[in-house]
Amino acid sequence: MRQGVDDDPGNLLPTQSGTYALLLHMAQPVQLSVGRLGVFSFPAGDTVYVGSAFGPGGLRARVARHLRGDGRKHWHIDILRAHAPVYGVCYAARAEHLECVWSQTLAAAPGAHIPAPGFGSSDCMAGCPSHLISFPSGLSARRLQQLLSTKCEI
Ligand SMILES: [Zn+2]
Repeated sequence: MRQGVDDDPGNLLPTQSGTYALLLHMAQPVQLSVGRLGVFSFPAGDTVYVGSAFGPGGLRARVARHLRGDGRKHWHIDILRAHAPVYGVCYAARAEHLECVWSQTLAAAPGAHIPAPGFGSSDCMAGCPSHLISFPSGLSARRLQQLLSTKCEI
């Protein structure tokens, strides 16, 4: 059985800035309103959200917040996170922004589906369809690591 990472997530990641990818599992499909983007149907299965953390506390602070799933609904992912546990995190503690490269790599992978065009990519300048990519037929943490060629935890 898959479980969310609810306990002691604080020390998993470095405090440097960088790019991260959260692997979430949706037990069932859900329809959600995503701010100004509209209402979308998110499929059951695995979903990857790609983001960057260049604020105080870096990757550790941002990802810990996503793992806890509490707080204000500030980012698009907060809305989805309320419905899906995180069971994997990949990251790169580098000054370079990798979220568009990672999003486009994932969107081009077999089985990829874009449930909500524009999700998490309001500021995207690289033409990504979305920074949230779903895999209704499943995506293992190992496969995610292979696709991104970076470090992963959990
Ligand atoms: Zn992008």
